[in-house]
Amino acid sequence: MIMNRLSLNVFLALMLIFVLTSGVFAQDTPPLNVVTTTGMIGDAVENIGREGVSVTTLMGPGVDPHLYRASEGDMRRIAQADVVFFNGFHLEARMSDVLARMGGRVITVAVGEAVSSEFLLDDKDYPGQADPHIWFDVELWMKAVEKVRDVLIEHDSDYADYYHENAEAYLAQLYDLHQYVIDQAERVPENQRVLITAHDAFGYFGRAYGFEVRGLQGISTEAEAGIRDVRELADFIVERQIPAIFIESSVPVRNIEAVREAARAQGFEVSIGGELFSDALGDAGTFEGTYIGMVTHNIDTIVGALLQEGK
Ligand SMILES: [Zn+2]
Repeated sequence: MIMNRLSLNVFLALMLIFVLTSGVFAQDTPPLNVVTTTGMIGDAVENIGREGVSVTTLMGPGVDPHLYRASEGDMRRIAQADVVFFNGFHLEARMSDVLARMGGRVITVAVGEAVSSEFLLDDKDYPGQADPHIWFDVELWMKAVEKVRDVLIEHDSDYADYYHENAEAYLAQLYDLHQYVIDQAERVPENQRVLITAHDAFGYFGRAYGFEVRGLQGISTEAEAGIRDVRELADFIVERQIPAIFIESSVPVRNIEAVREAARAQGFEVSIGGELFSDALGDAGTFEGTYIGMVTHNIDTIVGALLQEGK
């Protein structure tokens, strides 16, 4: 009986040691200090890095990355980071100097460069430059996610297995998401798959999921839409009898409202099909505040509006 109690105590002591040491991260290991520009990249780093990383995302909900300038605080955060992930292809147009300058001091990684050039679309406004909105083709975005995984492993190799496992799980979810978008898109008859938004963020989305896309502003929001752009888009809507157009969370509503008014002047009523998350995630703590939530919200909103469900 005494022996039994002794072995039980030994067993419990061993269990305790096991529990204390089996956490993947020892408490005295500081997490990898990661800074990202967009929320989409920040979400990928969180999903793969989990306990191994501390992530700061510079561009919050509703923030337009094309126009974003780094603040003093951002500069400090970047300077103190172990790794900085950004999108690249001039998405962060007004941060390119900062990122280039900091590149000599901290590790900076453009996740977009993981996508091989044959899959890139051209920016119509800047020939020779790639369209940066790669996250709207989920399969392409998976390449960027793999890049995040590889960089974390490279700079924190003690936890390579951990990052690998987390990435496998996340990539499997993204693969399911890609299939979901395909299935939803196919509910819309092919000739009705026309997506009209405030700016040209959905080129990759259109190519991957079979939508004709038109943006009022170009690929960047830096150039304002003119009266002619508004009229041309309105003519297109009336001619094709497009039932719905969409606003974006990171672009002012007034532009797309002007298109609606111009169509109305021709006697055609086009509805605002809802708000899409184009270049920024939704609020933190909501489903739309994640990449998967953003993509799901967008396809559900687009398909629902084009099929005029709920009317
Ligand atoms: Zn954009």
